[in-house]
Amino acid sequence: MSDRPAATLLDGRALAAQIEANLADEVQTFTDMFKRPPRLVVVLVGDMAASASYVKSKAAAAARVGIDAEVVRVPATADTLALVALVKSIARDEHGPADGILVQLPLPAHVDTVAVLDAVPPDRDVDGFHPENAGLLSQGRARFIPCTAAGVQRMLLDAGIETAGRHAVIIGRSDIVGKPLALLLSAKGPGGDATVTLCHSRSADMAAITRQADILVAAVGRPGLVTASMVKPGAAVIDVGINRVTAPDGTSRLTGDVDFESVRGVASWITPVPGGVGPLTVAMLLANTALAAELRSRGG
Ligand code: NAD
Repeated sequence: MSDRPAATLLDGRALAAQIEANLADEVQTFTDMFKRPPRLVVVLVGDMAASASYVKSKAAAAARVGIDAEVVRVPATADTLALVALVKSIARDEHGPADGILVQLPLPAHVDTVAVLDAVPPDRDVDGFHPENAGLLSQGRARFIPCTAAGVQRMLLDAGIETAGRHAVIIGRSDIVGKPLALLLSAKGPGGDATVTLCHSRSADMAAITRQADILVAAVGRPGLVTASMVKPGAAVIDVGINRVTAPDGTSRLTGDVDFESVRGVASWITPVPGGVGPLTVAMLLANTALAAELRSRGG
């Protein structure tokens, strides 16, 4: 047993509530000026319980800050062509003004996800997945930053966790989380200037790398992947993973990629799951939607 005090919890819910309160003022100003609220249109394909629940919390959060959110539900049998056509019709405002457009992932296996995401016009792409937005981010002139990556950076900034000159190790190289976060943390400026290592499924001796991390981010989708022996004492550990695990008695619960109980004895900061990065992801989506509405009102 170490005599280190347990890590400080990074409370994503409290920070998200603060961000929402500020956004609500911004949204009210927009609504007064343009006589309509900013609007988000979400495409939900099929009836996967996890996707439906994420969409529900996004719509509820939008309502809390005064953003109008519409969910367009599509059966799981819809094919790529139909979904591309739907996204294009939303972009023509045929479902009402669509300042932000979001396609909830994952899409069914028979659908070409890239083709559907590419149909979202880059200036409405509040998830930040379009290649134009990925390119802008990589060049240090971001417009819409993928929400989870933005949320992780915001959390570090809010907690006063220094990134400049520190070694940040990110596990997971997805276009949605790992890659954009690597770009953000290595970019010049506040919340950046870190030396970043990106680990993935083919990384050799990953524990030797993660033990060097001042900031360790796990974005994999494997419960318990990060154990105490992989963490440098005093590190900040950010757990992006969301995994549903079922106990032998049939009860299920959400857990992250980090073995929370052991790692909290070694780290100095740690995010819980749930209640860590998740609420920040939603708050950043709302911020991107408000930004999209504002950019549009200024004509681009
Ligand atoms: P993904 O499946 O696209 O990517 C997973 C990454 O993990 C890959 O790059 C892969 O190389 C890497 N990986 C797999 N096994 C590994 C191993 N044994 N060691 C090291 N790396 C390994 O997933 P994603 O979309 O980036 O999501 C990752 C996790 O984050 C999932 O649990 C997802 O549910 C969660 N997530 C949470 C939020 C949130 O708001 N908190 C948002 C998005 C994703």
